Amino acid sequence: MTHDMKIIVIGAGVVGVTTAWYLTELGHEVTVIERLSAPAGEASFGNAGGICPSFAGPWAAPGMPLKALRWLFDDFPPLKIRPRFDLAQWRWLAAFVANCNARSFAENKARMQRVAHYSRHCLTELSAQTGIAFDLSDKGVLQVFQTEEEAEGGRRSAKVLAELGIAHRFVEASELAGIEPALKDSNASFAAGLHLPDDGTGDSHIFTRSLAALLVKKGCRFEFDTIVSAIETDANRIIGLRTHAGKLSADAFVVAAGAFAPALLKPLGINLPVYPVKGYSITCPIHTDAGAPLSSVMDEHSKVMVTRLGNRLRAAGVAEIAGYDRALRPEARLGLIDRVRNLFPAACDYAAAEFWCGFRPMTPAGPAIVGPTEFSNLYLNAGHGSNGWTQACGTARILADMISGRTPDIEP
Ligand SMILES: Cc1cc2nc3c(=O)[nH]c(=O)nc-3n(C[C@H](O)[C@H](O)[C@H](O)COP(=O)(O)OP(=O)(O)OC[C@H]3O[C@@H](n4cnc5c(N)ncnc54)[C@H](O)[C@@H]3O)c2cc1C
Repeated sequence: MTHDMKIIVIGAGVVGVTTAWYLTELGHEVTVIERLSAPAGEASFGNAGGICPSFAGPWAAPGMPLKALRWLFDDFPPLKIRPRFDLAQWRWLAAFVANCNARSFAENKARMQRVAHYSRHCLTELSAQTGIAFDLSDKGVLQVFQTEEEAEGGRRSAKVLAELGIAHRFVEASELAGIEPALKDSNASFAAGLHLPDDGTGDSHIFTRSLAALLVKKGCRFEFDTIVSAIETDANRIIGLRTHAGKLSADAFVVAAGAFAPALLKPLGINLPVYPVKGYSITCPIHTDAGAPLSSVMDEHSKVMVTRLGNRLRAAGVAEIAGYDRALRPEARLGLIDRVRNLFPAACDYAAAEFWCGFRPMTPAGPAIVGPTEFSNLYLNAGHGSNGWTQACGTARILADMISGRTPDIEP
């Protein structure tokens, strides 16, 4: 076992901070470098908050290219591609389409499920150990289907879940309000639903910030407002990081820079297949308790996830494949509000919604990239896509074990 190494983690999102946690627990001296002035300022800030191992799976699925074509004519499309003169975008899209077949889907789904369920277990353990409060709710996730075609997809998912031994219940439309009472006032009409009782919700921003504060007490250092501009190598080793504050050295380095990891790795000859898939969220204070969801509802029709985070309602959706464009498009805000108001008309004063966007660090196949590289002391923990909050603790622990020469609890 290798203990007491000096390790630098690049990125203080939920993935970087959980990685720092498990490395610190294993006795290493860890420093986290973050270009922003606080933890969880990018994708880990305003995501949908779903801790959804039963749901975890790749977007690259059979039938997805056809759906994407149909969405071209939608007024609020779940997926939007803005073509750019960018080889990375075209390469990523080609690899995504290549994974849209039954065999790749099954393989990638099984890998993601394994990691996500392990991660759920790690998060439960970590919350009990630390007592961090982050609006955690264990009341499950309800997927709702508005059309018979969507319900049929739900029945197929239920079959896969049954094969994997994952708790679930396919429910008729009449049973939905029994699970989420506020749906009885919904303006939408439903065909059916799929209830995933083991999934949950929580605020990844509050969690990451609190975990970072605990880490500081344990001796882990955080260097905020520090941009890593280059990773310096000598033959097959990393010898240091270049930042505007000077050069930083360590025994080992972890890149946990989310959607920004490819730019850091490219000069090293590592072409990380991670692309920024932009999404939006709104957050509003709940003003009518009875009108808001108890837990989390995933509307399969619009692919918008509506989550209760304590006394706030968070709704997130939309996938824009358009590079690192941070524009907060008003039509996305209006579209989100419209879909959520349709489901839960009385929950919030939607005019007061805070609006946010972030980049899902997506791999074309789905699974995150976790492990060593061709450089002997450089490790990756990136590409968690739309499931990064769900998978963070698990992938962090797997990587910390690998770096420490321990056998991870599950086959990564
Ligand atoms: C709209 C939306 C909804 C989502 N919903 C869910 C959900 O319900 N459930 C779920 O599990 N997941 C969800 N996700 C995905 C999840 O948010 C991400 O997978 C996860 O936050 C990724 O974490 P990360 O730490 O890898 O990346 P980030 O949180 O983006 O962190 C990366 C960090 O690295 C820093 N960094 C980058 N480059 C450098 C550099 N050169 N020097 C120093 N620092 C650097 C950045 O500033 C950033 O803080 C959603 C994402 C979006 C966008």
